[in-house]
Amino acid sequence: MYPTLSLYINGEFIEAQQRKTEPVINPATKEVLGQLPHATQTDLDLALQSAQTAFESWRHSSPMERSEILHKVAQLCRDNAEEIGRNITLDQGKPLAESVGEVINCSEHADWHAEECRRIYGRVIPPRNPAVRQLVVREPIGVCAAFTPWNFPFNQAIRKITAAIGAGCTIIIKGPEDSPSAVLAIANMFHQAGLPKGVLNIVWGVPAEVSDYLIRSPIVRKISFTGSVPVGKQLAALAGAHMKPVTMELGGHSPVLVFPDVDIPRVAKQLAYFKVRNAGQVCISPTRFYIHEDIYAPFKDEFINILANINVGNGLETETEMGPLAHERRLGVMDRFVEDALSRGGKIALGGERLSEAGFFYGPTVITDVPDDTMLMTEEPFGPIAPLTRFSDTTEVLKRANSLPFGLASYAFTNNLQTAHTVSNELQAGMVSINHFGVSVAETPFGGIKDSGIGSEGGTESFDGYLTTKFITQR
Ligand code: NAD
Repeated sequence: MYPTLSLYINGEFIEAQQRKTEPVINPATKEVLGQLPHATQTDLDLALQSAQTAFESWRHSSPMERSEILHKVAQLCRDNAEEIGRNITLDQGKPLAESVGEVINCSEHADWHAEECRRIYGRVIPPRNPAVRQLVVREPIGVCAAFTPWNFPFNQAIRKITAAIGAGCTIIIKGPEDSPSAVLAIANMFHQAGLPKGVLNIVWGVPAEVSDYLIRSPIVRKISFTGSVPVGKQLAALAGAHMKPVTMELGGHSPVLVFPDVDIPRVAKQLAYFKVRNAGQVCISPTRFYIHEDIYAPFKDEFINILANINVGNGLETETEMGPLAHERRLGVMDRFVEDALSRGGKIALGGERLSEAGFFYGPTVITDVPDDTMLMTEEPFGPIAPLTRFSDTTEVLKRANSLPFGLASYAFTNNLQTAHTVSNELQAGMVSINHFGVSVAETPFGGIKDSGIGSEGGTESFDGYLTTKFITQR
């Protein structure tokens, strides 16, 4: 059964009652799964007040208490992964194995933050005068407002929640209205784990209205957003006007460089499967393919052959390897990418069209001969479209890979140590992954540079955005 949708404020799940609602649609069938209540202004004020009140005591909670709650949530993730995963597949569309995997993977985020929050250290600075003691302490920043997207609805929300709560902050989160069940499942688990009321609050509504209200509130001291670059810039500008720090995990346009010395079938297979993960709706998905000219033809054939046989369907069916796009508006966006590429000389080597009318299905697509200045090579497609291009020289391909204002993930495949060394030094990105896809585990920092964002989530850097630095000098 798909869960009843609610707000979660001050430790209570609040159902729609007289509130405005919006339908939540199953992208594989277009069926309405439930009605999501929008928070009223009174609800938002209540969330702000309860987060502020809770902060007064939570900021003094011991790291052991926070750690224990986070560990309990990690266990609840493992225990409930099947049920939560099924609901994610229903409202987001990805194959069940990916949804369940997302939840299990997040148990590691909860465990990691449970362990690291016990190691939020300050330092002692030797004084000039021996009668003076100089300390640096890190303190929780306060009430946080976070806005999380629909593509990894569980993962993106739990990263922010565990970092904020582990640091001793309280948080109000507006999750994705398109696929809300995951964020409510997180609230349920923290509730069961005994999190004091008001430390975590969940609201829904019109994104621009809710974010505007929360960011302007003097109660909120920190903003965290994962989503598109244009929205991130708007929210960062508003936060800046109120002198509030931000963590921004924004879009990318990840280059993948395939050098001539690789095992072509192995790399083509790895890239094809990674490309269709979550139907390409992944901010670190490989999106610009630069293939060395010496292996371009055999790589292209292998890559297309694998993608042509990907099983596209309802994520609840066991044989499905790629589900629908998460919502209808993404189909129109895919059409625009393809039309622009074709009008500029690109050639469709596979797909390029919508599939079954039953849901928001779009076929795995490969486009060749795409000029570097097409929409497809300059804007993040966020879908199952792979543009293939050729390169001949390392300096040239690095220049092309670094030519966009984004810098989230980037990939290279080579067996040459010198090439691996050069590209890892020269690629302009927050994350560089060579010969595998390994950029999203709890113990490593995840984040972008340039327009792709500010700050990191995961790794020991995770708490930085949720802490302030205080210098204490005492004589
Ligand atoms: P969009 O730009 O309308 O929305 C992106 C996300 O931001 C959604 O979750 C949305 O609810 C939220 N949002 C939009 N306006 C907001 C506002 N004013 N305040 C707070 N939240 C707001 O686009 P979309 O069609 O939903 O998603 C497609 C684009 O979003 C993609 O092209 C991709 O670049 C980006 N995206 C990135 C990530 C990521 O992990 N970095 C995740 C999802 C979407």
